[in-house]
Amino acid sequence: MFEGLTEKLSGVFDGLTRRGSLTEADVAAAMREVRRALIEADVALDVVRSFIDKVKERAVGAAVVKSVSPGQMVVKIVSDVMIETLGSDAQPIDLDAPAPVAIMMVGLQGAGKTTTTAKIAKRLVDRQGRRVLMASLDVKRPAAQEQLAVLGRQVGVDTLPIVAGQTPVEIARRAEQAARLGGYDVVMFDTAGRTHIDEPLMAEMEEIKAHARPHEVLLVADSLTGQDAVNLAKSFDERVGVTGIVLTRIDGDGRGGAALSMRAVTGKPIKLLGTGEKMDALEDFHPSRIADRILG
Ligand code: GDP
Repeated sequence: MFEGLTEKLSGVFDGLTRRGSLTEADVAAAMREVRRALIEADVALDVVRSFIDKVKERAVGAAVVKSVSPGQMVVKIVSDVMIETLGSDAQPIDLDAPAPVAIMMVGLQGAGKTTTTAKIAKRLVDRQGRRVLMASLDVKRPAAQEQLAVLGRQVGVDTLPIVAGQTPVEIARRAEQAARLGGYDVVMFDTAGRTHIDEPLMAEMEEIKAHARPHEVLLVADSLTGQDAVNLAKSFDERVGVTGIVLTRIDGDGRGGAALSMRAVTGKPIKLLGTGEKMDALEDFHPSRIADRILG
């Protein structure tokens, strides 16, 4: 993941750390290259600008050119700023609410919502010993509810029995009731997606949210769509309100623009990364580890 960005940045840093001394012009030239690398990685322009400004400001403040190993100091400053841009601390899924805690999954069709719902459920069961019930509220795509049931059987997580002809809100009510009566800790709602944002989709999400009163609303977005993923998160948040982001297909993302821009643009934390098609291909999002990976 993020190979393209890593390669470009390591080129810049090798050049910096190899020198015994640096002039301010050297630092400025290196920052121009970092800027170019971030733009090529599809990082939002505002984020690139504030990233470079912060690094320059601190490099001047830290008297980099006078220090013993100036190159390493610049690299450390870049790393610190990158961690801050990614969101500083890990933000796990918050289940601190009366059971059954509702988690609503939203996003466009094909982003990986259903897969991610099952991955998260499996992890809550396996790692935290929670009792989880999943329900698909997707009544548009004929096979959607069955797809979640198949994944549920595969990972050993219960799904709400399918009743034909119900509306998403009716299914949500039935799931909440089944979760309460069945003594489940968590109830997960997988919602319908569209190929793009439209008014009926947003209205449906608002209606479901009003009835399901989720503690977490997780937007599932495809990292390969770069800035579109970030804009999508902004739109969903403005209209429906999201509490966190799951970025999928990170396994195929050589650029990293969505990961690097998401927090700064939307103010919402990336909570998890989808790293493959398998049911255990899900990682917690730790800003410092991600920065380490990007910086090689
Ligand atoms: P939905 O329409 O949003 O519910 O999307 P699905 O969950 O059906 O996923 C669409 C496709 O993306 C499936 O083939 C998944 O296996 C695949 N997928 C989901 N997450 C990931 C991921 O993190 N990495 C990769 N490589 N594939 C993924």
